[in-house]
Amino acid sequence: MCCKKVLLVLMCSLASSVWAADSCTIDIKGTDLITFTDMAGKPLRRITVPAKCNQFTINMFHVGKMPKTAMGHNVVITKTADISGVIKDGMRYGISKDYLPPKDPRIVAASTMIGGGAKTSVQFPVAKIKNGDYSFFCSFIGHDRKMRGKFEIQ
Ligand code: ZN
Repeated sequence: MCCKKVLLVLMCSLASSVWAADSCTIDIKGTDLITFTDMAGKPLRRITVPAKCNQFTINMFHVGKMPKTAMGHNVVITKTADISGVIKDGMRYGISKDYLPPKDPRIVAASTMIGGGAKTSVQFPVAKIKNGDYSFFCSFIGHDRKMRGKFEIQ
């Protein structure tokens, strides 16, 4: 009985160290203050993807309390120059489409939009990022002004 428990603890700690070493994944937070932060709560200004990654995954935890309709967050990646156009077009589609134009070729990746207490993930091929200036942002109306940062491969 006691040995089973030890084994379980060992397996759990192994799993978590594998998770932490996987740099083709990033965990971030969205807050009720209209910010993206890292898991330590520091403002997130940049996401850097190691060039060796074929696929990249972003997990976003909405650590706020407000519902999606008032404080929805998602993670969208486009060329920086496309942000305002995508948001302007997305507004017409409303929250049921996460304020994004469906199947828009300017969108490299987009998670679903979530409210407080929820989690969302998006995974995409890194090859979709070509040369140029890319950013991540939240497409909820007005949020991109505070919720955005550089997205780069290194
Ligand atoms: Zn948002």
